[in-house]
Amino acid sequence: METTRNYRVEFTLLVALAASAGFFGYLGYGLLDLPVEDASFSADQAMVYVEKQMSFGPRITGTREHREMGDWMVEELNHNGWDVLIQPFRPLPEVEARNFIAFRGSGPVIILGAHYDTRIYSDSDPDPDNRDKPVPGANDGASGVAVLLELARTLDVANTNHTICLAFFDAEDNGRIPGWDWILGSSHFVEHLDSMEQCRSPRYTVIVDMIGDADQQILWEPNSDRGLTEAIWRVAGQLGYGEWFSLARGTALIDDHTPFIEAGFTAIDIIDFTYPYWHTVEDTVDKLGVESFERVGATLEVWLESGAPGP
Ligand SMILES: [Zn+2]
Repeated sequence: METTRNYRVEFTLLVALAASAGFFGYLGYGLLDLPVEDASFSADQAMVYVEKQMSFGPRITGTREHREMGDWMVEELNHNGWDVLIQPFRPLPEVEARNFIAFRGSGPVIILGAHYDTRIYSDSDPDPDNRDKPVPGANDGASGVAVLLELARTLDVANTNHTICLAFFDAEDNGRIPGWDWILGSSHFVEHLDSMEQCRSPRYTVIVDMIGDADQQILWEPNSDRGLTEAIWRVAGQLGYGEWFSLARGTALIDDHTPFIEAGFTAIDIIDFTYPYWHTVEDTVDKLGVESFERVGATLEVWLESGAPGP
């Protein structure tokens, strides 16, 4: 009995010490690096997830490579303890596509989303001969998925006090190609959100897209909710990443956050649209930086495990 009580006192002291260290670190009183050390997100593992996606080849909606990559993703999510809903749809009458929605936890819903398809054509390539080739999609596609998969592996969901829905959207990236449009997967998802018991009525939706550029510069995407952007950028600043997360106005974009905003939800797009290799054959792994993944992954992990503070 006595031993147990002593142990309990010591344990309580330790918890109190840890909590105050965390508190001061969080407010930025000289212990700025503490929360990063607490974050278990591994940027190296996120890079492994990028390489694995790239090993399938371009992930063009409806192709065998794309289907195999999707199957692998479901296995990986199941392996890490997540239930996965598969939402099939047809972006074109002859093309089969699938959204994947992994979910865990309880409480208000937070959706983290990324698109896993890659664009059919590299039509922004400076060399006209490359413009009918597929986009390799190391940054545009694989980087956002890698962040979500690594969060699936490391996030302490119970500590978030939320239901976490990881949405892997298909058919985002074929706009301005005959027969196609942008954001088909996320549009389909939002249209059917009411029937998806696990993820409906999200408190917040955060899309992660093109975050892996070694020369990272994440700006406020002006269609994104300003208050939620500030709340997440504040966490990035507390982690020492203020140099890479700017509240300056970036380019307004249609991305997977758009259907959520149009449906009246609070949503943002974490995106670095200053990437010079966007929709070119040069969107390859050598353009990425592991620290870029660290900054986005640790920010999201700490934000979520702090209970996802809002505006
Ligand atoms: Zn794209």
